[in-house]
Amino acid sequence: MLKGWEDISLIENFIDSNFIGVYALSRNGLNVHYVGRDYDELVKRIENDAERDDCYRFFAYEYSLTDAFAYKLECKYYHECNPPDNNLHPSPPKGLNLQCPVKGCGSSKKIEAVKRI
Ligand SMILES: [Zn+2]
Repeated sequence: MLKGWEDISLIENFIDSNFIGVYALSRNGLNVHYVGRDYDELVKRIENDAERDDCYRFFAYEYSLTDAFAYKLECKYYHECNPPDNNLHPSPPKGLNLQCPVKGCGSSKKIEAVKRI
């Protein structure tokens, strides 16, 4: 479960920078407008994304123990929340042969199609 919403300006009070995980950004603290993940520096990643579009004022987050699980979480929230600012489906971590875990997702089918060629 994502924890939030919290004020982005207070992010360092909430997120331990040693953890990896997924996050959501919101302009109004009600709706998810963007979802993402990071494996190294979750705080920096959220701050960078927030700076790119300074309308984001709130964040929510969830830690993950592995890159693979972070990817699965990101896919889950991408499909559940349908965030308007994500133009592309999340891509799997480099070097890991993973498919979107969400049933009926067109993205995993596309990946399979590409592999067969
Ligand atoms: Zn998917």
